[in-house]
Amino acid sequence: MDLIIRNACLADGRRNVDIGIEDGRFAAIQPALPATGVEEIDAAGRLVAPPFVDPHFHMDATLSLGLPRLNASGTLLEGIALWGELKPDLTIQALVDRAMAYCDMAVAQGLLAIRSHVDICDDRLLATEALLEVKRRVAPYLHLELVAFPQDGLLRYARSKANLVRALDMGVEVVGGIPHFERTMADGAASIRWLCELAAERGLRVDMHCDESDDPMSRHIETLAAETLRTGLQGRVTGSHLTSMHSMDNYYVSKLLPLVAEAGVHAIANPLINITLQGRHDTYPKRRGMTRVPELMDAGVNVAFGHDCVMDPWYGMGSADMLDVAHMGMHVAQMTSTAGVSRCFEAVTTNAARVLGLEGYGVAPGNPASFVLLQAGDAYEAIRLKATRLMVVRHGKVLARTPERRTALNLAERPSDLTLEFRPGSIS
Ligand SMILES: [Zn+2]
Repeated sequence: MDLIIRNACLADGRRNVDIGIEDGRFAAIQPALPATGVEEIDAAGRLVAPPFVDPHFHMDATLSLGLPRLNASGTLLEGIALWGELKPDLTIQALVDRAMAYCDMAVAQGLLAIRSHVDICDDRLLATEALLEVKRRVAPYLHLELVAFPQDGLLRYARSKANLVRALDMGVEVVGGIPHFERTMADGAASIRWLCELAAERGLRVDMHCDESDDPMSRHIETLAAETLRTGLQGRVTGSHLTSMHSMDNYYVSKLLPLVAEAGVHAIANPLINITLQGRHDTYPKRRGMTRVPELMDAGVNVAFGHDCVMDPWYGMGSADMLDVAHMGMHVAQMTSTAGVSRCFEAVTTNAARVLGLEGYGVAPGNPASFVLLQAGDAYEAIRLKATRLMVVRHGKVLARTPERRTALNLAERPSDLTLEFRPGSIS
């Protein structure tokens, strides 16, 4: 075999397995694999997980932090104003450079598939052109798919429909929308109908920013689910954010969740962004604003977590680390049960892969050998430590290695020669 990882554990809890890789695919996964590899690596009980997948990101804005100035208030509205100030100064070269830098960051973190929205409300479609170029360049090592996103509204901005169709003709593969931002609820519903029909005609997937609001009456997810059924798009539509669901009437939600499940609509929460941008008009008590993650999961809806923003006008933090996202999601949704923590890990791996419809995803025989070796004993510890990505592999090829973190944080592998600058009990 080309490569064998010995003594690994898997995200599903299996331990002491050997993973054999040949011709870029997983050839065998079993205990004590009777074969030899050109290269053999002892995982020493650490976790081999499928690569991280970010199902919701904005790569046209990433790493623009501080351009042309910082978001002093840290609010959504100042962020939107800042993005408006930056847009006239955008160049294709600057967009490509920032996106390529982000993709490097992503690969180092084991993040090998990203769905990015791209704002099509700039009539020059510079960002679309730039990100299509980035998609071509990173194709050998990172799956990047693009959503045509009418940031200023499909109906509210007069040229959105034409720009959106142009972006799809240029090669953007997912239809986006933002119904809660249209002028009226009726316009929001009309935008959903138009976009779902367009996607059905062209055989495309849909991913809308939907109900990113604290308004409990923002109910576009209901229309999105109904239109998904009417246009036959089951399994191909995603509602992103869905934060209004946090504030909705409980009886209404008890009818809504089965509808979302029936329509096979995927849900994406963006925990880092939802917890910082929602509830801003509240005094106390202050709402968290994230959608109802465990309740959606219990209803049979596929729920994934997205990063949404990294170092852009809306959010100055982030490092392409999907374990950071899972960590925050677990806290905000209070998913601290052992099953809950596992589900948070799935929300940034398998569930996110289902949103994108990735084929051959997962550590299983026959699939392309794409995985991350984490410095953690299981998914629980991976989230706790936002564990070091020791090795990132795609289709059997090593893309990145990071040295072990030598600290006292991993209980099972605390280095015996670690010198701390204090003696227990000596600090007063
Ligand atoms: Zn977004």
